[in-house]
Parts: sequence; C-alpha cells; structure tokens
Amino acid sequence: MTQVTDHGGGVRSIRVPIPDNPLGHTLVYLADTDAGPVLVDTGWDDPASWDTLVRGITACGTAVEEIHGVVVTHHHPDHHGLSGRVREASGAWIAMHAADAAIVRRTRETRPEGWFGYMAAKLEASGAPEEHIAPLRGTHRSVRRTGTLPGFSPALPDREIVPGELLPLPGRRLRAIWTPGHTPGHVCLHLEETHPDRLPGNGRLFSGDHLLPRITPHIGLYEDPDTHGRPVHANGIEGLGEIADPLGDYLDSLERVGRLGPAEVLPAHQHAFTDAPSRVAELLAHHEERLTGLLALLSVPLTPWQLAERMEWNRPWADIPHGSRNIAVSEAEAHIRRLVKLGRAEAVTDSDPVTYVAV
Ligand SMILES: [Zn+2]
Ligand SMILES: [Zn+2]
Repeated sequence: MTQVTDHGGGVRSIRVPIPDNPLGHTLVYLADTDAGPVLVDTGWDDPASWDTLVRGITACGTAVEEIHGVVVTHHHPDHHGLSGRVREASGAWIAMHAADAAIVRRTRETRPEGWFGYMAAKLEASGAPEEHIAPLRGTHRSVRRTGTLPGFSPALPDREIVPGELLPLPGRRLRAIWTPGHTPGHVCLHLEETHPDRLPGNGRLFSGDHLLPRITPHIGLYEDPDTHGRPVHANGIEGLGEIADPLGDYLDSLERVGRLGPAEVLPAHQHAFTDAPSRVAELLAHHEERLTGLLALLSVPLTPWQLAERMEWNRPWADIPHGSRNIAVSEAEAHIRRLVKLGRAEAVTDSDPVTYVAV
C-alpha cells in the first residue's frame, strides 16, 4: 500500500505510523526546493516508522541522504522523533521555534526521575488522590535503577524558526506563523504560493497539530520540570510577569490562522482539507461551549482533579487509564487558567490543594 500522497506543486505527504497510538500516523510533508527536498516534521522514533519514512522519501523520487532541511512544527515525539536520524543520514539542518527548542534542551538536561518528581508534585497540587500519584513514585524508583527512558534525548535543533519570517528555502515562499497553545513554540508554515489546483484562498498551510480536520489538539499547561509544579510564567521567569495561559494562546492562534484564509490546510494527522475559517469557527465555538459548561461545574469549589473527574471526556472517568488522566487534569487546569484570566473564576483563599469557584 502506498504511503505517499501527491498534493501538487512539489508537495507530497508520507504516512509515517505511530506505534500503539489511536492517532495512527503522522503526515510528514516533503517539499521540493531549489536547494533540495525539505521535510516538515519527521515522525515517531521507531524502526518501523523510520523504514516507512525512508521508503516514502524514495517513492517521492529522492533519497533520505538528499534531504536539505527539517522544519519542525513542534517538539512532540510524533513530529520531531526521527529528526536526529534524518540529520545523521543527510547532514540536513533542523529548525524549530525557540520556545520548543528550550523544552528540547530541558528534556535532555532533566534526568527521568526529575520528570517523575515534577509530575508527582504537580498532580499533588492539582488534588490528585495518593493512589493515583503512588505509581509515579514507583516508576521514579525503577527509572533510578535503570537510569534511562526512551524519548528523553530529542535532537537539538540547529536553527531557529523566527515568527513572521520566510524560511531560507530557495525557490519557495514558506513563512513561519507562530501558533502557541498546543505547545509554547508550535508553528504553522504558510506556503505563500498559488494553490496548484487554483483553489480560492491564500496559499496552503502546514498546520502541524494546531488545526486538524476532525479532532481538537490537547491543550494543557506548558510543562516545565524546573518549576517543581508551580505555574510557568509567560515570560519564563518564575514569580515575574504573567502566568502562561495556553488555552488563551491557542484561541488567539486559531483566530490568526482563520484570518490567513488558506486555500487548503495540510495537517500533521488525518487528512488535508479546505475551508479553514469554518473549521476555526467550529473549534472556537467548541471551546466557548466547554468553558461555559465548566463554569456551571464550578458553582461549587473544586480542585483541578475534581473538575477533570466531572468533565465530559470520550469515555467515563472510571475507564480512563492512568496516563490519560494526567493529560485530562492538565487540560482541566488549562481551562481553569483561562476562566481565571477572564475573571469568570477564582482560587478559594487558603484552600489546600487549591480549589476554584465561579465568580
Ligand atoms: Zn503534538
Ligand atoms: Zn501530533
């Protein structure tokens, strides 16, 4: 079965599998430039995924050794996982936004037990019950014995993607659009060229995980183990400046991409689609509805954990596995952060762990 789709105008996508993940695959894009082919994202670091990527690049009429550069939409392992191997095989540069490059640097510098300690502290502050936190402390001990864990050594990028600027790609016009929210340094890449089928609209947009046709990306809190579970500030300095509001960032980024009005969206999962403004409007309405629903739940004071338990997920809370509950509670916290920022909810004085209530 062919894993390659030709999108026209010197752009193809390769379906690179993500092992044991319901998302199924990452769409890695290959764009021709006068300096050689460039990849947008690379896929999960797994032998079968690597083989699919290499075969796909060959099916595009080139070879992995010929790759000129790798543009990474964000640091997540289903996007950035194979970047290091591509660079080793080809000598390509890897470009990433500074905010996600900082996360890559921290991930490389933080020992796995540091991450588990951070997660445990953060969950405790969110009001998670001890029986949920205990296994993390267990992992923490077993990791200390083995000292390693996969995915903790992502490749350091060599170039910075600067928001608003054209990437230095001869023969193409690809502009970086900073779209924080899913991660602090997420970028979309706007191909400012006429659509190959002359579809109406403003070029094409490689949207990463920011804008997907049928799912909404996870919006949590920007994780930073250096803060030991205390809030990350927007300017990165603890205790100074504004507290980061990833959901607010995401909603602003959505509006930015909607205003751009691309003729076609080339996302990193699922499939390409047109009419970005309608999809943006749908997502904005979805989040507004969700915030209103949460406000109703916060008529009584709740910890982020208690709110997550009461929120609507794709299955009952009792059936949500351990790892996904961690993601759910960070999503609940991102929504609380937004409501507090909007003045629609507030922390209850002297509550420990902190509870929040609608105002
Ligand atoms: Zn992602
Ligand atoms: Zn993804």
